[in-house]
Amino acid sequence: VVQQLGPRPDGSIPFSVEFNPPRDAAGEARLWRAAREFERMHPAFVSMTYGAGGSTRDRTIRVTGQLARETTLLTVAHLTAVDHSVAELRSIVGAYADAGIRNLLVLRGDPPGDPLGEWIKHPEGVEYADELVRMVRELGNFHVGVASFPQGHPRSRDLDEDTRFLVAKLRAGAEYSITQMFFDVDHYLRLRDRALTADPVDGAKPIIPELMPITSLRTVQRAEELSGRALPERVIERLRKAAGTGPEENREAVRAAGIEIATEMAQRLIDEGAPCLHFITLNFAKATSEVLANLGYTVSPTPVRA
Ligand code: FAD
Repeated sequence: VVQQLGPRPDGSIPFSVEFNPPRDAAGEARLWRAAREFERMHPAFVSMTYGAGGSTRDRTIRVTGQLARETTLLTVAHLTAVDHSVAELRSIVGAYADAGIRNLLVLRGDPPGDPLGEWIKHPEGVEYADELVRMVRELGNFHVGVASFPQGHPRSRDLDEDTRFLVAKLRAGAEYSITQMFFDVDHYLRLRDRALTADPVDGAKPIIPELMPITSLRTVQRAEELSGRALPERVIERLRKAAGTGPEENREAVRAAGIEIATEMAQRLIDEGAPCLHFITLNFAKATSEVLANLGYTVSPTPVRA
Protein backbone atom coordinates (compact mmCIF):
# COMPACT_ATOMS: atom_id res chain seq x y z
CA VAL A 1 0.00 0.00 0.00
CA VAL A 2 2.66 2.54 1.00
CA GLN A 3 4.22 2.33 -2.46
CA GLN A 4 0.94 3.60 -3.91
CA LEU A 5 0.76 6.67 -1.67
CA GLY A 6 1.77 10.26 -2.32
CA PRO A 7 1.41 12.45 -5.41
CA ARG A 8 1.33 10.74 -8.81
CA PRO A 9 3.40 11.95 -11.78
CA ASP A 10 0.48 14.12 -12.94
CA GLY A 11 0.32 15.78 -9.49
CA SER A 12 -2.94 14.13 -8.43
CA ILE A 13 -3.05 12.18 -5.21
CA PRO A 14 -4.36 8.63 -5.10
CA PHE A 15 -7.67 7.58 -3.64
CA SER A 16 -8.81 4.29 -2.16
CA VAL A 17 -12.16 2.82 -1.17
CA GLU A 18 -13.58 0.73 1.62
CA PHE A 19 -16.10 -2.05 1.06
CA ASN A 20 -18.15 -4.08 3.52
CA PRO A 21 -18.66 -7.83 3.28
CA PRO A 22 -21.95 -8.49 1.44
CA ARG A 23 -24.65 -10.26 3.44
CA ASP A 24 -26.37 -12.08 0.57
CA ALA A 25 -26.30 -12.71 -3.17
CA ALA A 26 -27.92 -9.34 -3.99
CA GLY A 27 -25.37 -7.57 -1.80
CA GLU A 28 -22.59 -9.47 -3.50
CA ALA A 29 -23.81 -8.37 -6.94
CA ARG A 30 -23.91 -4.76 -5.74
CA LEU A 31 -20.37 -5.00 -4.38
CA TRP A 32 -19.13 -6.32 -7.73
CA ARG A 33 -20.85 -3.51 -9.62
CA ALA A 34 -19.12 -0.96 -7.39
CA ALA A 35 -15.76 -2.77 -7.60
CA ARG A 36 -15.89 -2.85 -11.41
CA GLU A 37 -16.80 0.82 -11.54
CA PHE A 38 -13.95 1.80 -9.23
CA GLU A 39 -11.56 -0.42 -11.15
CA ARG A 40 -11.88 1.98 -14.10
CA MET A 41 -10.75 4.84 -11.84
CA HIS A 42 -7.55 3.14 -10.63
CA PRO A 43 -7.78 3.39 -6.86
CA ALA A 44 -4.50 2.90 -4.99
CA PHE A 45 -6.18 0.03 -3.14
CA VAL A 46 -9.55 -1.23 -1.93
CA SER A 47 -10.15 -2.52 1.57
CA MET A 48 -12.73 -4.95 2.93
CA THR A 49 -13.93 -4.60 6.52
CA TYR A 50 -14.15 -7.57 8.85
CA GLY A 51 -17.00 -8.48 11.20
CA ALA A 52 -17.44 -11.13 13.83
CA GLY A 53 -19.59 -14.18 13.11
CA GLY A 54 -18.76 -17.49 11.43
CA SER A 55 -20.72 -17.45 8.16
CA THR A 56 -20.02 -13.75 7.53
CA ARG A 57 -16.36 -14.44 8.15
CA ASP A 58 -16.17 -17.24 5.59
CA ARG A 59 -17.95 -15.11 3.00
CA THR A 60 -15.67 -12.17 3.79
CA ILE A 61 -12.54 -14.22 3.18
CA ARG A 62 -13.98 -15.72 -0.02
CA VAL A 63 -15.16 -12.41 -1.51
CA THR A 64 -11.98 -10.56 -0.52
CA GLY A 65 -9.91 -13.30 -2.17
CA GLN A 66 -12.04 -13.04 -5.33
CA LEU A 67 -11.54 -9.28 -5.44
CA ALA A 68 -7.79 -9.82 -5.21
CA ARG A 69 -7.70 -12.54 -7.87
CA GLU A 70 -10.38 -11.51 -10.35
CA THR A 71 -9.82 -7.75 -10.52
CA THR A 72 -6.81 -5.50 -10.96
CA LEU A 73 -7.50 -3.98 -7.53
CA LEU A 74 -4.82 -4.09 -4.83
CA THR A 75 -6.88 -5.59 -2.02
CA VAL A 76 -6.43 -4.95 1.70
CA ALA A 77 -8.24 -7.20 4.16
CA HIS A 78 -9.22 -5.85 7.59
CA LEU A 79 -8.65 -8.24 10.48
CA THR A 80 -9.96 -7.89 14.05
CA ALA A 81 -9.16 -9.73 17.26
CA VAL A 82 -12.79 -9.98 18.45
CA ASP A 83 -13.72 -13.47 19.71
CA HIS A 84 -10.62 -15.06 18.20
CA SER A 85 -7.86 -17.08 19.81
CA VAL A 86 -4.34 -16.52 18.53
CA ALA A 87 -4.56 -19.90 16.75
CA GLU A 88 -7.73 -18.79 14.92
CA LEU A 89 -6.18 -15.46 14.02
CA ARG A 90 -3.18 -17.28 12.57
CA SER A 91 -5.43 -19.50 10.49
CA ILE A 92 -7.40 -16.50 9.14
CA VAL A 93 -4.17 -14.77 8.17
CA GLY A 94 -3.17 -18.03 6.46
CA ALA A 95 -6.48 -18.12 4.56
CA TYR A 96 -5.90 -14.55 3.36
CA ALA A 97 -2.36 -15.43 2.32
CA ASP A 98 -3.70 -18.45 0.38
CA ALA A 99 -6.14 -16.07 -1.34
CA GLY A 100 -3.18 -13.98 -2.48
CA ILE A 101 -3.64 -11.18 0.05
CA ARG A 102 -0.51 -9.67 1.57
CA ASN A 103 -1.96 -6.38 2.83
CA LEU A 104 -3.84 -6.40 6.12
CA LEU A 105 -5.42 -3.59 8.14
CA VAL A 106 -4.96 -4.87 11.67
CA LEU A 107 -7.49 -3.84 14.31
CA ARG A 108 -8.60 -4.86 17.73
CA GLY A 109 -12.29 -4.51 16.88
CA ASP A 110 -15.16 -3.62 19.21
CA PRO A 111 -17.20 -5.81 21.56
CA PRO A 112 -20.09 -7.30 19.53
CA GLY A 113 -23.39 -5.47 20.02
CA ASP A 114 -22.21 -2.37 21.87
CA PRO A 115 -19.01 -0.76 20.54
CA LEU A 116 -18.46 0.99 23.85
CA GLY A 117 -19.40 -2.02 25.98
CA GLU A 118 -16.87 -3.85 28.12
CA TRP A 119 -14.02 -5.32 26.05
CA ILE A 120 -13.39 -8.89 27.11
CA LYS A 121 -10.27 -10.38 25.66
CA HIS A 122 -10.57 -13.91 24.26
CA PRO A 123 -8.84 -16.12 26.86
CA GLU A 124 -6.29 -17.16 24.25
CA GLY A 125 -6.48 -14.00 22.17
CA VAL A 126 -4.84 -10.58 22.15
CA GLU A 127 -5.65 -7.49 24.20
CA TYR A 128 -4.57 -4.64 21.90
CA ALA A 129 -3.97 -4.15 18.19
CA ASP A 130 -0.18 -3.71 18.58
CA GLU A 131 0.09 -7.37 19.68
CA LEU A 132 -1.81 -8.42 16.57
CA VAL A 133 0.49 -6.30 14.40
CA ARG A 134 3.51 -8.14 15.85
CA MET A 135 1.82 -11.51 15.39
CA VAL A 136 0.99 -10.84 11.72
CA ARG A 137 4.50 -9.54 11.02
CA GLU A 138 6.00 -12.66 12.57
CA LEU A 139 3.83 -14.87 10.35
CA GLY A 140 5.46 -13.71 7.16
CA ASN A 141 5.85 -11.06 4.57
CA PHE A 142 2.69 -9.02 5.22
CA HIS A 143 2.19 -5.30 4.81
CA VAL A 144 0.29 -3.99 7.78
CA GLY A 145 -1.78 -0.87 8.36
CA VAL A 146 -3.60 0.17 11.55
CA ALA A 147 -6.39 2.51 12.67
CA SER A 148 -5.83 6.06 13.88
CA PHE A 149 -8.30 8.44 15.49
CA PRO A 150 -8.25 12.19 14.72
CA GLN A 151 -10.38 12.93 17.78
CA GLY A 152 -8.88 10.15 19.86
CA HIS A 153 -10.36 6.69 20.37
CA PRO A 154 -13.42 6.95 22.64
CA ARG A 155 -11.67 4.69 25.18
CA SER A 156 -8.45 6.73 25.34
CA ARG A 157 -8.14 9.07 28.32
CA ASP A 158 -6.73 11.96 26.30
CA LEU A 159 -5.17 12.74 22.94
CA ASP A 160 -1.58 12.30 24.17
CA GLU A 161 -2.34 8.81 25.43
CA ASP A 162 -4.14 8.04 22.20
CA THR A 163 -1.12 9.18 20.18
CA ARG A 164 1.20 6.95 22.25
CA PHE A 165 -0.95 3.93 21.44
CA LEU A 166 -0.93 4.81 17.73
CA VAL A 167 2.84 5.17 17.76
CA ALA A 168 3.12 1.81 19.56
CA LYS A 169 1.24 0.15 16.68
CA LEU A 170 3.51 1.81 14.14
CA ARG A 171 6.62 0.78 16.07
CA ALA A 172 5.27 -2.78 16.19
CA GLY A 173 5.62 -2.85 12.41
CA ALA A 174 2.63 -1.11 10.88
CA GLU A 175 3.60 0.90 7.81
CA TYR A 176 0.70 3.37 7.73
CA SER A 177 -2.61 4.15 9.37
CA ILE A 178 -6.09 4.89 8.10
CA THR A 179 -8.10 7.30 10.22
CA GLN A 180 -11.55 7.03 11.63
CA MET A 181 -13.83 9.18 9.47
CA PHE A 182 -14.03 12.83 10.49
CA PHE A 183 -15.80 15.99 9.37
CA ASP A 184 -13.31 18.61 10.51
CA VAL A 185 -10.01 18.58 8.61
CA ASP A 186 -8.28 20.38 11.50
CA HIS A 187 -8.67 17.21 13.57
CA TYR A 188 -6.74 15.27 10.94
CA LEU A 189 -3.99 17.88 10.75
CA ARG A 190 -3.60 17.92 14.53
CA LEU A 191 -3.36 14.13 14.62
CA ARG A 192 -0.59 14.26 12.03
CA ASP A 193 1.28 16.89 14.09
CA ARG A 194 0.84 14.91 17.32
CA ALA A 195 2.16 11.69 15.77
CA LEU A 196 5.19 13.45 14.33
CA THR A 197 5.98 15.16 17.63
CA ALA A 198 5.60 11.90 19.57
CA ASP A 199 7.98 10.03 17.25
CA PRO A 200 9.76 11.70 14.32
CA VAL A 201 10.39 8.31 12.66
CA ASP A 202 7.39 6.03 13.17
CA GLY A 203 5.07 8.99 13.75
CA ALA A 204 5.94 10.22 10.25
CA LYS A 205 4.43 7.14 8.59
CA PRO A 206 1.55 7.98 6.24
CA ILE A 207 -1.82 8.76 7.82
CA ILE A 208 -4.58 8.18 5.28
CA PRO A 209 -7.69 10.27 5.93
CA GLU A 210 -11.04 8.51 5.71
CA LEU A 211 -14.03 10.33 4.24
CA MET A 212 -17.67 9.41 3.99
CA PRO A 213 -19.88 11.40 1.62
CA ILE A 214 -23.20 12.04 3.35
CA THR A 215 -26.09 11.21 1.01
CA SER A 216 -29.11 11.54 3.33
CA LEU A 217 -30.00 12.50 6.89
CA ARG A 218 -30.07 8.76 7.61
CA THR A 219 -26.40 8.51 6.57
CA VAL A 220 -25.63 11.16 9.22
CA GLN A 221 -26.82 8.70 11.83
CA ARG A 222 -24.76 5.91 10.25
CA ALA A 223 -21.68 8.17 10.18
CA GLU A 224 -22.12 8.98 13.87
CA GLU A 225 -22.55 5.30 14.76
CA LEU A 226 -19.47 4.31 12.76
CA SER A 227 -17.26 7.10 14.08
CA GLY A 228 -18.63 7.13 17.63
CA ARG A 229 -18.67 10.95 17.37
CA ALA A 230 -21.33 13.55 16.68
CA LEU A 231 -20.88 15.49 13.45
CA PRO A 232 -19.85 19.14 13.90
CA GLU A 233 -22.85 21.41 14.40
CA ARG A 234 -22.01 23.50 11.30
CA VAL A 235 -22.08 20.36 9.10
CA ILE A 236 -25.42 19.29 10.56
CA GLU A 237 -26.76 22.82 10.07
CA ARG A 238 -25.79 22.79 6.41
CA LEU A 239 -27.49 19.45 5.84
CA ARG A 240 -30.60 20.48 7.78
CA LYS A 241 -30.86 23.67 5.80
CA ALA A 242 -30.69 21.63 2.60
CA ALA A 243 -33.35 19.26 3.94
CA GLY A 244 -35.74 22.20 4.24
CA THR A 245 -38.58 22.75 6.67
CA GLY A 246 -41.28 20.87 4.78
CA PRO A 247 -42.79 17.60 6.00
CA GLU A 248 -40.49 15.63 3.66
CA GLU A 249 -36.67 15.87 3.59
CA ASN A 250 -35.49 17.45 0.32
CA ARG A 251 -33.36 14.43 -0.50
CA GLU A 252 -31.69 15.80 -3.58
CA ALA A 253 -30.60 18.97 -1.81
CA VAL A 254 -29.25 16.99 1.19
CA ARG A 255 -27.33 14.70 -1.13
CA ALA A 256 -25.89 17.65 -3.06
CA ALA A 257 -24.82 19.32 0.20
CA GLY A 258 -23.21 16.07 1.41
CA ILE A 259 -21.23 15.69 -1.82
CA GLU A 260 -20.20 19.33 -1.63
CA ILE A 261 -18.99 18.96 1.98
CA ALA A 262 -16.95 15.84 1.09
CA THR A 263 -15.49 17.61 -1.96
CA GLU A 264 -14.42 20.63 0.10
CA MET A 265 -12.84 18.42 2.75
CA ALA A 266 -11.04 16.35 0.12
CA GLN A 267 -9.69 19.45 -1.61
CA ARG A 268 -8.34 20.82 1.65
CA LEU A 269 -6.73 17.45 2.44
CA ILE A 270 -5.08 17.43 -0.98
CA ASP A 271 -3.81 20.98 -0.39
CA GLU A 272 -2.46 19.91 3.00
CA GLY A 273 -0.50 17.04 1.45
CA ALA A 274 -2.58 14.02 2.52
CA PRO A 275 -1.02 10.86 1.02
CA CYS A 276 -4.32 9.39 -0.27
CA LEU A 277 -8.08 9.86 0.19
CA HIS A 278 -9.86 6.80 1.56
CA PHE A 279 -13.62 6.68 0.99
CA ILE A 280 -16.22 4.69 2.87
CA THR A 281 -18.57 3.57 0.09
CA LEU A 282 -21.12 1.24 1.73
CA ASN A 283 -20.59 -0.69 -1.55
CA PHE A 284 -22.00 2.05 -3.78
CA ALA A 285 -19.75 3.80 -6.29
CA LYS A 286 -21.94 6.78 -7.14
CA ALA A 287 -21.36 9.28 -4.31
CA THR A 288 -17.59 8.70 -4.17
CA SER A 289 -17.35 8.95 -7.98
CA GLU A 290 -19.15 12.28 -7.87
CA VAL A 291 -16.74 13.66 -5.27
CA LEU A 292 -13.80 12.42 -7.34
CA ALA A 293 -15.26 13.92 -10.53
CA ASN A 294 -15.63 17.28 -8.72
CA LEU A 295 -11.94 17.03 -7.86
CA GLY A 296 -11.02 16.36 -11.50
CA TYR A 297 -10.37 12.61 -11.35
CA THR A 298 -11.18 10.82 -14.59
CA VAL A 299 -12.37 7.36 -15.55
CA SER A 300 -10.23 5.25 -17.85
CA PRO A 301 -11.70 2.62 -20.17
CA THR A 302 -8.86 0.16 -19.59
CA PRO A 303 -8.30 -1.08 -16.06
CA VAL A 304 -4.66 -1.30 -15.01
CA ARG A 305 -3.19 -2.01 -11.61
CA ALA A 306 -2.49 1.34 -9.97
P1 FAD B 1 -6.29 -0.57 19.71
O1 FAD B 1 -5.22 0.20 19.05
O2 FAD B 1 -5.93 -1.84 20.39
O3 FAD B 1 -6.98 0.40 20.76
C1 FAD B 1 -8.13 0.00 21.50
C2 FAD B 1 -8.25 0.85 22.75
O4 FAD B 1 -7.22 0.46 23.67
C3 FAD B 1 -8.06 2.34 22.51
O5 FAD B 1 -8.83 3.05 23.45
C4 FAD B 1 -6.61 2.55 22.80
O6 FAD B 1 -6.41 3.88 23.20
C5 FAD B 1 -6.37 1.55 23.93
N1 FAD B 1 -5.01 0.99 23.91
C6 FAD B 1 -4.28 0.64 22.84
N2 FAD B 1 -3.08 0.13 23.22
C7 FAD B 1 -3.07 0.15 24.58
C8 FAD B 1 -2.13 -0.25 25.58
N3 FAD B 1 -0.95 -0.75 25.23
N4 FAD B 1 -2.48 -0.08 26.88
C9 FAD B 1 -3.65 0.44 27.23
N5 FAD B 1 -4.60 0.85 26.33
C10 FAD B 1 -4.31 0.70 25.03
N6 FAD B 1 -13.86 -2.64 13.36
C11 FAD B 1 -14.26 -3.86 12.91
O7 FAD B 1 -14.86 -4.61 13.67
N7 FAD B 1 -14.01 -4.29 11.64
C12 FAD B 1 -13.35 -3.50 10.75
O8 FAD B 1 -13.12 -3.91 9.61
C13 FAD B 1 -12.92 -2.19 11.17
N8 FAD B 1 -12.27 -1.37 10.32
C14 FAD B 1 -11.84 -0.15 10.77
C15 FAD B 1 -11.10 0.66 9.88
C16 FAD B 1 -10.65 1.90 10.29
C17 FAD B 1 -9.89 2.77 9.32
C18 FAD B 1 -10.90 2.35 11.62
C19 FAD B 1 -10.42 3.69 12.07
C20 FAD B 1 -11.61 1.54 12.52
C21 FAD B 1 -12.08 0.28 12.10
N9 FAD B 1 -12.78 -0.57 12.97
C22 FAD B 1 -13.20 -1.80 12.51
C23 FAD B 1 -13.11 -0.13 14.33
C24 FAD B 1 -12.02 -0.54 15.34
O9 FAD B 1 -11.93 -1.95 15.42
C25 FAD B 1 -12.42 0.06 16.70
O10 FAD B 1 -12.34 1.45 16.66
C26 FAD B 1 -11.66 -0.49 17.91
O11 FAD B 1 -12.33 -0.04 19.10
C27 FAD B 1 -10.24 0.01 18.02
O12 FAD B 1 -9.43 -0.70 17.24
P2 FAD B 1 -7.85 -0.44 17.25
O13 FAD B 1 -7.26 -1.37 16.29
O14 FAD B 1 -7.56 1.01 17.11
O15 FAD B 1 -7.48 -0.90 18.76
